[in-house]
Amino acid sequence: MAYATVNPYTGETLKTFPTATREEVDAALETAHAAFGVWKNEPIEERTFVLDKAASILEAERNEYAEMLTTEMGKIMSEAQAEVSVCVAILRYYVEHTKDLLRPRMLLTQGFGETDVHLVNDPTGIIFAVEPWNFPYYQVIRVAAPQLAAGNVVMLKHASNVPQCAALMERLFREAGAPEGVFTNLYLPHDLTEHVIASPYVRGVALTGSEKAGAIIASLAGKHLKKSTLELGGMDAFIVLEDADVQLAAEWAVRGRNRNAGQVCVSSKRFIVVDAVYDEFVRRYRAEAAKLVPGDPADPKTTLAPLSSATAKRQVERQVADIVAQGAKIEYLVDVPEEGNFFPSALITDIPEGSDATRTEIFGPVAQLYRAKDEADAIRIANDCPYGLGGSVFTSDIHHAQEIARQLDTGMVTINRASASGPDIPFGGVKNSGYGHELIDLGLKEFLNQKVVING
Ligand code: NAP
Repeated sequence: MAYATVNPYTGETLKTFPTATREEVDAALETAHAAFGVWKNEPIEERTFVLDKAASILEAERNEYAEMLTTEMGKIMSEAQAEVSVCVAILRYYVEHTKDLLRPRMLLTQGFGETDVHLVNDPTGIIFAVEPWNFPYYQVIRVAAPQLAAGNVVMLKHASNVPQCAALMERLFREAGAPEGVFTNLYLPHDLTEHVIASPYVRGVALTGSEKAGAIIASLAGKHLKKSTLELGGMDAFIVLEDADVQLAAEWAVRGRNRNAGQVCVSSKRFIVVDAVYDEFVRRYRAEAAKLVPGDPADPKTTLAPLSSATAKRQVERQVADIVAQGAKIEYLVDVPEEGNFFPSALITDIPEGSDATRTEIFGPVAQLYRAKDEADAIRIANDCPYGLGGSVFTSDIHHAQEIARQLDTGMVTINRASASGPDIPFGGVKNSGYGHELIDLGLKEFLNQKVVING
């Protein structure tokens, strides 16, 4: 694992970065701890002033920030610009709402007077954020905006293939006026992860990434008695019922599965279609996917990006080969260029029930299709999954869809569209998709000491 910028479209290694030494990590921890001592006592308005400035910088330099996403992980330009915009919106959400959300809460109790017991929200220290490459800014801002607003400081270990995006995040907060140590980017080697988590200055660990990394980091956090939040993988079900608008479902399905080249935790991955409309859905999915335009992610005409790295491509190839070896069928729906880390949009059908294939999260534009006998069968297939991130239901009966939403074992459900997220919508999953939330007040308070103060 070396920190390097390797363009996923050209394969060219553009820049490499040395990993931090133990001494550098210790120095960064000291600086961050000292910064926390000051930052936590700043009025909320001062802290959110920095967030506001960061939002304005991002907005003004949207294209420059977006270009780095395209260079380092191959995101198509329109999606890269949209990612920067959502970061602006998250920062502004906390500028507007932090004061209200952190207001002390009076508790009506039996033994004390009406105003004698209240909860205050105190910051706790350094929050260690371990983040993935698929949304290199959004994932960072989802943690940094609330934590910095609340008075914590953030130490980032970003994915090794987006080192310049990581550096831009640090530069952003410094330019916005955050003192040194309030937001620190470290090119941390894996073998120093425990050293950081063990530091008494570090009070929480937020990881977004794979189940494997989540289990490692959470066990280290547990060992050192630090709170953790985990935003992990997903195999979101996309249920299409008999009374659905099948064309609308197919359009959302192709979008939901191919956006960001399918490298989205909360993208639709398992398409569970009732028998009555299965053939029609497949026909329409094929037709919609055929419209995808693979190519240079910097070209505005491109709608299907390369995968983020050669390793990511090899992994998808291996997963698809395993699934086919288990008896499933694969159909490729578009031709992709030879060069670059492209994987074609594809459809997998006839997946044997109970096989490992039904539990494999493919991080690429490959749709896994299931034929359900009826609605009850569709819900059963949807819940027969180790993950519980998001899910979608397509039907013309919205009220009924809301009832189905309650039956899905997931953290999020969308009706008649693929997954949705927003600066003011919480994000989080259940089961092997992790625990804890990001965004709104839920994310803001994950790493705070909600302290009880009682007037005697
Ligand atoms: P990954 O391998 O788990 O990497 C995520 C981060 O964890 C990277 O910074 C990585 O650093 C670090 N990491 C991995 N192993 C580590 C270790 N032993 N010690 C310290 N750090 C370690 O994940 P990925 O494959 O890049 O990302 C895809 C996964 O993330 C998918 O499963 C996806 O669904 C999930 N995801 C979830 C969400 C969500 O919000 N729920 C959002 C996006 C992605 P290195 O790069 O240095 O290995």
